[in-house]
Amino acid sequence: MSSIDLRSDTLTPPTPAMRKAMAAADVGDDVFGEDPTVNRLQELAAERTGKEAALFVASGTMANLVSLMTHCGRGDEIILGDQAHIFFYEQGGSAAVGGIHPRTVANRPDGTLDLEAVRAAIRFDDVHFPRTRLLVLENTHNRCNGTPIGPDFMAAAGKLAGENNLKIHVDGARIFNAACALGVCVADLVAAADSVSFCLSKGLASPVGSLVCGSRAFIARARRARKVLGGGMRQAGVLAAAGIISLTEMIDRLAEDHANAKRLATGLADLKGVNLDPNEVLTNIVYFQIDHETMDAAVLVEKLAAEGVKILPVDARRCRAVTHYPIRETDINHALYVFSKVLASKD
Ligand SMILES: *Cc1c(COP(=O)(O)O)cnc(C)c1O
Repeated sequence: MSSIDLRSDTLTPPTPAMRKAMAAADVGDDVFGEDPTVNRLQELAAERTGKEAALFVASGTMANLVSLMTHCGRGDEIILGDQAHIFFYEQGGSAAVGGIHPRTVANRPDGTLDLEAVRAAIRFDDVHFPRTRLLVLENTHNRCNGTPIGPDFMAAAGKLAGENNLKIHVDGARIFNAACALGVCVADLVAAADSVSFCLSKGLASPVGSLVCGSRAFIARARRARKVLGGGMRQAGVLAAAGIISLTEMIDRLAEDHANAKRLATGLADLKGVNLDPNEVLTNIVYFQIDHETMDAAVLVEKLAAEGVKILPVDARRCRAVTHYPIRETDINHALYVFSKVLASKD
């Protein structure tokens, strides 16, 4: 029995077109800047995000760390949401490796920040304080229901940053999902950002890789940060070839993942013991709560897995399901059938 794996959109297998492109890729040594396929992917990424240049890196975590280390020196401070992936899920790498001090501001439920709270957190020049250098935003916001953050908030954040001599980095692991859900182009969405990172290895289905995009000067410095982190890769064109397919063939289909997530959310909301608001599901991530008298999240996850449906427990009550290629509407219907069956048999 093959399972329906909704734990993450990192579970996407490379498409047949990717396998073919990877096998046929022209390659060179990318540390020398001589891999034509990597160079083509980087040009494409820069074009899509409206930035001058881009850098191919191993993961979203590396993309963020490279970006932060390029914007900040040791002892500098960044302001970011208390639910940010960078704060929650990256081992505190900015501090541990980069010597960068994180200052959190509460995320609102929609993943945005109260910009007055951000303004209040910016340090003035004083010998006691670290220097605030960077504002970090996340779009879509993973822990805040995968909510896409719109151009108006981005522009307001850009204005605040400009007035206070701050740079902006967008952790855009799923920025193409955000643009798709909002009906805007990525370049417009990140116009206020000095740097943006995004993942090829999530909904865009590549096996490996992320990109950092920014000005030519920024990317030249980011190349040094990548190298010191051990991220200089050689014939990386075999990986970049898949990334080119991600950016040319896999963006438009993200709407399908969003429709499937909405379908899943709507179906789950009808089940007794499950709590969520389907109106809050705007991209491919579905969070829901399970009533404590129904069962623990861990028990639900185990029972679903025994029936071939995999989801992720977040805490004792909360679970996450993520839609992605090649999961189809019929899979979602089957998953909902399994949910109703498992919830009906409490013991
Ligand atoms: C997945 C993710 C990352 C990290 O990407 P990896 O490739 O898993 O290192 C960073 N930020 C956000 C918002 C993510 O969802």
